[in-house]
Amino acid sequence: MLDLAIIGGGPAGLTAGLYATRGGLKNVVMFEKGMPGGQITQSSEIENYPGIKDVVTGMELMAPWPEQCMKFGLKHEMKEVTRVSEGDGSSFKISLAGGDEVEAKAVIVCTGSTPRRANFDGEEEFFGRGVSTCATCDGFFYKGKEVAVLGGGDTALEEALYLSHICSKVYLIHRRDAFRASPAIVERVKKADNIELVLNSKVKKVYGDNMGVQGVLIVDKEGNERDLKVPGIFVFVGMNVNNEVLKQSDGSYLCDVNEYGEVIVDLSMKTSKKGLFAAGDIRIQAPKQVVCAAGDGATAAISTISYLGE
Ligand code: FAD
Ligand code: NAP
Repeated sequence: MLDLAIIGGGPAGLTAGLYATRGGLKNVVMFEKGMPGGQITQSSEIENYPGIKDVVTGMELMAPWPEQCMKFGLKHEMKEVTRVSEGDGSSFKISLAGGDEVEAKAVIVCTGSTPRRANFDGEEEFFGRGVSTCATCDGFFYKGKEVAVLGGGDTALEEALYLSHICSKVYLIHRRDAFRASPAIVERVKKADNIELVLNSKVKKVYGDNMGVQGVLIVDKEGNERDLKVPGIFVFVGMNVNNEVLKQSDGSYLCDVNEYGEVIVDLSMKTSKKGLFAAGDIRIQAPKQVVCAAGDGATAAISTISYLGE
């Protein structure tokens, strides 16, 4: 029986492991289906992690984390968790891909989130090299330049406004002429001098070279094409939280989630299920930043230590 199972080895999971083992827990396993590091390893540049003064790649930022986080006894099992469910009495059952099962007294779920893809040509090829899903992270790299934003929800419009303060011009591309976003934010976007609404339009492809994106080809409902010569496009077509591990065989979730599937936690990262904690992008109101995910992981581990000591 594990004292603690951590699901996911991004910034939240790794930090949870560091704090749990350094805080005295002995039998702690982090299940990460790939190499530890999380989604930030896809980013070509990060410059907002405190203490790291230079712009580094996501890979460079995360490279020292596993060694530090495993120094106090955290074990990494490179396995995908398929489900977390109730075990005997007060424990949890962790089901692994391949059929194995492990029991744990407590669980911290840190499986993160995945930005939805819009599925235009070049989206994968240029992801992290001009195609971005994070304006807070990457907007500054386009200071004084023109960029495109794709999407018509609250995120797209809020991020278009954010970018309009940094960039010379923002083309807001949306596939319809009505926005899904709330009327208040739509009004603010319409009032912004340097946001051009490109409605009833889809992105056909992004193109570029080894250095990154050079332009975005869009097509409207009548089939007219337009070439936007921008070095960056921000895609905000919704986020998926990776909450599949909490789904039970009857379709319910092991703990309370909100209408978007985000795990509801309190300030100590406790979920509605005793002994089950959640940290990072998967939780409600997550700012979706590395520093915040790491902070959540530390908080969840400290809460777990108290829980197991009770
Ligand atoms: P994740 O990093 O998503 O990690 C979750 C981990 O869980 C993954 O490694 C995944 O493989 C694993 N996992 C998922 N399901 C399972 C399963 N069933 N079994 C086992 N393992 C599983 N933030 C910033 O602060 N600054 C930036 O500049 C910045 N730039 C970004 C650029 C890009 C391109 C992207 C995509 C994100 C960026 N972010 C940035 C956001 C940041 O990466 C996330 O907020 C942060 O990584 C969230 O950490 P997490 O640990 O909650 O989840
Ligand atoms: P969202 O509301 O699901 O909006 C996604 C947008 O992307 C929609 O406009 C959709 O177009 C468009 N889209 C989807 N797939 C596309 C594709 N393949 N190609 C082009 N466009 C595509 O997602 P979100 O904006 O991330 O918001 C998620 C939830 O969080 C929402 O409920 C939102 O209200 C909430 N949220 C709230 C706030 C806030 O309260 N301040 C801020 C952010 C998010 P259609 O409209 O045509 O479907």
